Amino acid sequence: MPSDRPCLWFVTGSQHLYGPEALAQVAANAQAVAGGLDACGRIPLPVIAKPVLTTAEDIRSLCLAASADPQCAGLVLWMHTFSPAKMWIGGLSCLRKPFAHLHTQLHRDLPWGSIDMDFMNLHQAAHGDREGAHLHTRMRLERKVVVGHWQDGEVQDRLGAWARAALGWHDLQGARFVRFGDNMRNVAVTDGDKVAAEMRFGCAVLAHGASELADRAAQVTEADVDALVAEYLGSYACAPDVLPGQPAHRSLRTEARTELALRRFLVDGRFKGFTTNFEDLAHLPQLPGLAVQRLMADGYGFGAEGDWKSCFMLRAMKTMATGLPGGTSWMEDYTYHLEPGRELVLGAHMLEVCPSLATARPSLQVHPLGIGGKADPARLVFDARPGPAINVSLVDLGNRFRLVVADVEDVTPPAPLPRLPVARAVWRCLPDFKTACAAWLYAGGAHHALHSQALSGEHLADFAAIAGIDLVRIDARTRIDELRERLRTADVVWSFSQGLGRV
Ligand code: MN
Repeated sequence: MPSDRPCLWFVTGSQHLYGPEALAQVAANAQAVAGGLDACGRIPLPVIAKPVLTTAEDIRSLCLAASADPQCAGLVLWMHTFSPAKMWIGGLSCLRKPFAHLHTQLHRDLPWGSIDMDFMNLHQAAHGDREGAHLHTRMRLERKVVVGHWQDGEVQDRLGAWARAALGWHDLQGARFVRFGDNMRNVAVTDGDKVAAEMRFGCAVLAHGASELADRAAQVTEADVDALVAEYLGSYACAPDVLPGQPAHRSLRTEARTELALRRFLVDGRFKGFTTNFEDLAHLPQLPGLAVQRLMADGYGFGAEGDWKSCFMLRAMKTMATGLPGGTSWMEDYTYHLEPGRELVLGAHMLEVCPSLATARPSLQVHPLGIGGKADPARLVFDARPGPAINVSLVDLGNRFRLVVADVEDVTPPAPLPRLPVARAVWRCLPDFKTACAAWLYAGGAHHALHSQALSGEHLADFAAIAGIDLVRIDARTRIDELRERLRTADVVWSFSQGLGRV
């Protein structure tokens, strides 16, 4: 396993009252649990057992070390025995990494016939974890509580979902994102407070002129363009007019030049994502389409129209989804099918939908954009595969960020769309179209979304908790009257809670 891979620290609490023999057993048991979680295949990060903690000094040292360790993505805490929680105040006060509280015990079943006081004293997480959790709540520490036997697949999945959120968070810390130009003129939701975002999410959004990218594109060699165009032609189902010698082939060369310039810009600047703005392309001949789609497929964050919040959130989601089946993409609710009881949403964008969603080999096509007055851009056209998905929107409400997460069901379009020259996903809303859309509108969700078939609402809820931001979920249980009440309450809660530290 590469040494720079993020990992989880498995941290077990106890105390000295039990004597060295019992503590040695606690340590062995902790190793067994950590090893079992590490090997279970449901947690995406290595789980590493740390020495059992029995003093305030050791707890503080471990929390400081975790906070400073660039590989530690989070901690799993377990009080195998009783660990008086005042010992944890100093350490947890300086812990800067997310943690989950695993409320478990070594044995699934009690040995009813042989249980004695020694067994009870050793396996007392049932109340030891309550002492720990009381302090977590008293300190207003956000964490995920996972309850059940550690070999239970459901428990491992709950911990695994949190580990994915922690991985996405870990990847954002210190990350850099580049914004070419500003946001689309007069658009509200793509704007917002980048200082607050950097304080909250730990990543920087940095502006560069589109002319810097255009200058880079001009420096790309014809040989490099030839090689990338050959890769395009070999990778996709090509429309006849994009082949060499045909009228639209020139657009492929332009796209390849832009892609190469973008990749170099991102690598040289250590950027994990970027935004474009069709209103500010400097002397780029066309809005990047295929290039953006391919960069998203490689894991880069992206936002159109200068949407920097969607850009870094997409990167976080792609990181969270590492190794899971199903794609994750930038998206926009574009237009509706309003047949009563069978309403559908057609999601797409002008060009930029990630081919990780594609149900079949994408088709490479060139068409006019119809906006922006530039040359005709190349793009991949495909349908998204059917199955469960989520739509996610990160918005700035002025005093806080809110994550809106809606469960949807991607479906096969009811009929082919032969004249629509963009990639698209078609979905059914939960619990129903009217409720879901009204909920999104009341919650202030953006007209942009991040669409994922790999992640569930749980991953995003865990991420929102780690980030300390407001979360609104729209799912099969959503009722508008309850949601509106919850939104009103949230405004009051967040007005006060900002003063209570990390909430
Ligand atoms: Mn838009």
